[in-house]
Amino acid sequence: MTADQHVLNHRERIIQGKENWWFLGAGGVARLSDRHLASGGALAPRAERQLRAQGLYVVAPRRSYSLTVLTTTACNLGCGYCFQNVAQDEGSGSRPPRIAQARLTSSRITSVLEFARRQMAAAELEKLHIMLFGGEPLLNPRGCRELLARAADYGLTDAAMTSNLTLLTPEIARELADLGLRSVQVTFDGAQPDHDLIRIRRSGGGTYDAIVANLAAASAAAPEIVWSLRVNVSHRNVEGIDALLEQLAGAVDPACCRVYFARVGDVGIGYLNGARHDEDLVARFCRWQRRAVDLGFIATRPRAHTPCATCQAGVGRYGAVVNADGTLSSCWETAGKPDWQVGTVTGGYRPAEQISGRWIACEDTYQYGDERRAVVSFHDAVDADLLDYLHATGRL
Ligand code: SF4
Repeated sequence: MTADQHVLNHRERIIQGKENWWFLGAGGVARLSDRHLASGGALAPRAERQLRAQGLYVVAPRRSYSLTVLTTTACNLGCGYCFQNVAQDEGSGSRPPRIAQARLTSSRITSVLEFARRQMAAAELEKLHIMLFGGEPLLNPRGCRELLARAADYGLTDAAMTSNLTLLTPEIARELADLGLRSVQVTFDGAQPDHDLIRIRRSGGGTYDAIVANLAAASAAAPEIVWSLRVNVSHRNVEGIDALLEQLAGAVDPACCRVYFARVGDVGIGYLNGARHDEDLVARFCRWQRRAVDLGFIATRPRAHTPCATCQAGVGRYGAVVNADGTLSSCWETAGKPDWQVGTVTGGYRPAEQISGRWIACEDTYQYGDERRAVVSFHDAVDADLLDYLHATGRL
């Protein structure tokens, strides 16, 4: 298999900024004027030829296999929107019932890595990228360490982790960085008072102070890690997000943190988000992302539509999601849910006819309440504004 056979199809975007249009291709971003567009908003043939000649359609071939591993399905928090809840907590609200408990063991790590070896051989890929996932992956720190340490013999180049950060210490951050951890995603649910009502411990109580203190200490101990701060947006916290940005910038080093905003999908059983993808929310997102740039956070540049290597590139071809019990799912949203399993690390993927109804792609289960077209327009407007701002301030 040659490198160009490892290319996943991207979809280019053309979006309208204040004074010009933006072309977003797999190979980069370009400014366009009206003369570059034909009627209907498509690219004029000459403009397309130029962009192709400049390499803006060139897709980098896949170089590594992406393996997401749940080191545990348990979590010490009780977020109401968690897609791993199987019901809402009708009592205190902080202990929604979750998917069945499972924990990654040493013998399971052997099976997981041998599965990765077979998948990588089939795709003729020699490099491995691991995402540590949960539940809360740091409820099983030994599993995280052992998985990364043993993955070095399987071509591990780097690792990422999605964590709520309440259990992260500088020592663990240093250890995991030495084993290849290079990026961590953590979620904030608004300014401290809102966050502490939403992102709550199962034992009760808020988590904002602990997350911020752990992030500051861990980033000092492991400066090679980039922190992705996801800010969840809902009608419950929308008014406090300006304040959150100021709080965060004063507490952590913005230069090692990306910050991005995401409307919470209605995924948790019985969880509803009243924030709509309307003009007011567009204006807020634009204001927040401009302020984040001004505060020194790393800007995440808008991109072309990029297929997910795990769920949109054929069954297990370039990536896989493995639950702590060794079962496979198409996507992390269905990990640990019995009706959605598509195989096991020891037996491989089930035949196509058995899994076609269980193969979902990223965000297929999200219910945004808005028309799909409104969601696309929302993201186009927000992304165009960020490109406008990065260009106007010499940051593009
Ligand atoms: S911290 Fe993550 S895994 Fe835990 S309950 Fe919240 S959303 Fe779910």
